[in-house]
Amino acid sequence: MIQSNYFTDNADLQEHFNGIVDWTEIVSVYENGFADAAEFKKSGNPRLEMAPASVEDAVQYYREILQSAGEIAGKHVAQVARDIDREGLKFENGNVIHPQKMMDAIQKYREAGLPPIAFRRKYGGLGIPGVVKAFASELMYRADTSTTIAMGSMGLAGILEKHASEEAKQKWIPKLISENYCVAMGLSEPDFGSDLPSIRTKAVQRDGKWYLTGTKRFQTVACGLNGGPAIMLALARTGEGSTGAKGLSFFIVERKDYKITGIEKKLGLKASATCEVALEDSPGELVGKEGYGLVRYVIGMLNGARMGIAAQGVGISTAAYMEAKKYAAERIQFGKPIAEIPAVARMLSRMEREIAAMRSLMIEGASIVDRYQCAEFNGKVTDESKFWEKIANTITPISKYYNSEMCNELVDDALQVFGGSGYTEDYDLARLYRDARITNIYDGTTQIQVNAAIGGVIAGMAPSGQWRQYLDALTKRIGKNEAIAEIRVKFEEVVESWRKFEAREVKEGMSFEVVESAARLVNSLLLEKAALRAKNPEARKKMNHDYHIDSLAIVTGNGIRLRAEA
Ligand SMILES: Cc1cc2nc3c(=O)[nH]c(=O)nc-3n(C[C@H](O)[C@H](O)[C@H](O)COP(=O)(O)OP(=O)(O)OC[C@H]3O[C@@H](n4cnc5c(N)ncnc54)[C@H](O)[C@@H]3O)c2cc1C
Repeated sequence: MIQSNYFTDNADLQEHFNGIVDWTEIVSVYENGFADAAEFKKSGNPRLEMAPASVEDAVQYYREILQSAGEIAGKHVAQVARDIDREGLKFENGNVIHPQKMMDAIQKYREAGLPPIAFRRKYGGLGIPGVVKAFASELMYRADTSTTIAMGSMGLAGILEKHASEEAKQKWIPKLISENYCVAMGLSEPDFGSDLPSIRTKAVQRDGKWYLTGTKRFQTVACGLNGGPAIMLALARTGEGSTGAKGLSFFIVERKDYKITGIEKKLGLKASATCEVALEDSPGELVGKEGYGLVRYVIGMLNGARMGIAAQGVGISTAAYMEAKKYAAERIQFGKPIAEIPAVARMLSRMEREIAAMRSLMIEGASIVDRYQCAEFNGKVTDESKFWEKIANTITPISKYYNSEMCNELVDDALQVFGGSGYTEDYDLARLYRDARITNIYDGTTQIQVNAAIGGVIAGMAPSGQWRQYLDALTKRIGKNEAIAEIRVKFEEVVESWRKFEAREVKEGMSFEVVESAARLVNSLLLEKAALRAKNPEARKKMNHDYHIDSLAIVTGNGIRLRAEA
């Protein structure tokens, strides 16, 4: 893998950090009038020591975090990623053994203080907005997915920060951070993956304490790291004879109280432990209120989780693109670098514009999630924050679906640029190709993301609907753009055609075309929005135009498919 600082070597990321991202807006949403800095002055609470007192302070702090993450990711972790993948995992006597090089890589991130990236300062976290988290995730995923998943699993406890009692938060979050816990998200079971409302694991209460029995499948790092601590946040059914989503509650179960009965042999993520977990009358601590586990807490957590995979998609795609670009400049065929052969150049330029679009969508999604979540955290829910919550519920499944599907396409193209060498294990493309394949499956498949987005797109395109208002505001901001105006017309036709379907199966079957069209339009708008603040907007013009032409072709094609189905 390329050896460099993955924050500073990435021109598009740098341009976003240094100019396109509107930090004044983002910091004002996140910092709540710099309340933490004021509180630190008063109380001297050491957890608030790094709280910024101005936008400039905040940006400097974010820069330092990203520089440090980029340095470790690019100069160390990426250099051992192939060895980590090759060595893989061992399962012995109910314990999982991770490669030593992976443990060393995680230790480097720990020494730099990076794991508590997901939490607010009050509980010992780094206290950074969603956009900065997304940038950090992107560059760590570029280096290695298995390592980043293991290190970042702690962030799943964000659900506690949002929904647990203050007592449980103070008990658990600082401990997870200081003792380097792994956290597993205990949703899937052997018979239920997408169909979470049907989960069967049971929780019963005796003498005021809860005990869980059942089997959880596909539990990422539920084993902990080579003897290190772990908890599983397990969804389980409470109440005699309860059925459906409302009977499900969340519990914290400690590693010592469940057994790992096996790990999956997988296509990729060779060093990420995917565990089968047996709960046998295992003690559990209820999180929040009984019955709210799926309907409130998982649903509330999904927007953040979706943005995590959106960042994973950007990271893996960037790794593949950067490696392919380097290879294409060096590989000579027919007397010239293959980068100069038009068919190869076209693949590379599509990768460049698609990654720019994925990054724009990631930034937009993350900042929209912050707009309503910060309002909730700060007790300042308004009509405006409720509007952003609605938009988040549509844009985050779009981001997860788009960035993961596109990641698969781009890694496939990058492997193609390597020719036969890409298919061997001599280069990193084979690993990236295998690791990319899971992104559109876990944390909700693409089909489930489409189901999550379709309502927000269709209802939102009503005459005064929220998605329409959002698109109109973006369109007004970027000004006249003929290509985008044409895409918008075609998109309106797609929505109208879908509305005319009567049969539920036809609607469900054709939802992808509508959501894909929505994604292409919003991405075209976001690329133009980025150009407005870019140092050199002219340089983005050609790339953006090419993206719009792709969008127009896709949305037009979707319109033809929908009309044919009528
Ligand atoms: C490496 C790995 C790590 C994982 N980590 C975790 C973890 O840490 N915690 C956890 O709880 N789970 C985890 N999972 C599980 C993962 O989230 C599920 O595999 C995923 O949600 C899909 O569920 P399933 O495999 O049961 O597929 P199914 O639900 O059986 O789906 C099969 C197919 O049917 C489609 N489908 C199903 N229902 C619908 C519908 N209503 N509409 C349209 N299409 C539908 C799906 O899109 C898919 O194409 C992990 C899985 C893997 C492979």
